[in-house]
Amino acid sequence: MTNTIFSKTLINWYIGIKRELPWRKTKNPYRIWISEIILQQTRVAQGYDYYIRFINRFPDVKSLSEAPEDEVLKYWQGLGYYSRARNLHTAAHQIIKKHNGIFPILYKDVLALKGVGEYTAAAICSFAFNQPYATVDGNVYRILSRLYDIDLPIDSNEGKKYFAVLAQQLLSKNDPATHNQAMMEFGAVHCLPKNPACNECPFQEKCIAFANGSVIQRPVKQQKTEVKNRYFNYFHIRLGENILLNKRTGNDIWKNLYEFPLIETSEKLEFNSLSLSEDFQKMFSGINNISFSLKQRDIIHVLSHRRIITNYYEVTVSGLNDCLKQYLCIPEKEFEKYAVSRLVHLLVSE
Ligand code: SF4
Repeated sequence: MTNTIFSKTLINWYIGIKRELPWRKTKNPYRIWISEIILQQTRVAQGYDYYIRFINRFPDVKSLSEAPEDEVLKYWQGLGYYSRARNLHTAAHQIIKKHNGIFPILYKDVLALKGVGEYTAAAICSFAFNQPYATVDGNVYRILSRLYDIDLPIDSNEGKKYFAVLAQQLLSKNDPATHNQAMMEFGAVHCLPKNPACNECPFQEKCIAFANGSVIQRPVKQQKTEVKNRYFNYFHIRLGENILLNKRTGNDIWKNLYEFPLIETSEKLEFNSLSLSEDFQKMFSGINNISFSLKQRDIIHVLSHRRIITNYYEVTVSGLNDCLKQYLCIPEKEFEKYAVSRLVHLLVSE
């Protein structure tokens, strides 16, 4: 199949089924960038509302760069993968400093923005400026590996290079924006991972994996992601009308989000064993009139590489020791103002 036939067939299919989405109606690179970052790891149905809220509050690079990071994270709350929001904020500062607040046009400058990889740079440059850069994401790997029945692992260096070159060769140089949109839509709604609609497919006669009966084996991956368990014990500590919060720092999940004081253990511990641990003693020693109530146990929260198993305690104290004084003490009624992980949000919502 020549690249012209491929692209024409694809674009014809797309024009027939196209969903109207706000970020498809704009050529504004800032809005396209925001939509692309939101839609990484997020389904369109969920991302849509976040996009509208985010753009209403931060309509341009300037407003995003001037906002406090806490507020940007609050607008991201519930979407997960919070490094995306922190990177957006950092990149907005980069655009102000290096490009006088004007979104860069050159692919290399877009790629240099914090949190922007090759896929996102290609999406922005093609959608906003109609530049001929092919977007290569999981959808594209799946479509191409099936159309050409390619068994090179998509997570190997060789595989990545091979698919990038192939996607670039197939790209329509006249209308790269529509071609890239069509490719992603075809993967998202038609050539699906589990139930591809092969019987109504415009490529069926050309699809080599279909002919070979290997559709479901494509694409090939070499590594399975190992999922590790982590054990969290959260303490929702009340002192009168106030509660204690911690801002997460360091190179770990949920950086710069807020949470209750936490003791992480290497294995699951019931309260009796936990209360003998060094961390527990340090956190609560010297406090009189203290009561603990286990509100939720063994709550499982799954992230891409981690399974977090949580026990959640409510604690009432009559005073603070030196350890607890290091936490942020806020009126409980203001808790909603703080950006927290979905896990913490679920714990308090139950
Ligand atoms: Fe995908 Fe099936 Fe079409 Fe091949 S025939 S491109 S596997 S939907």
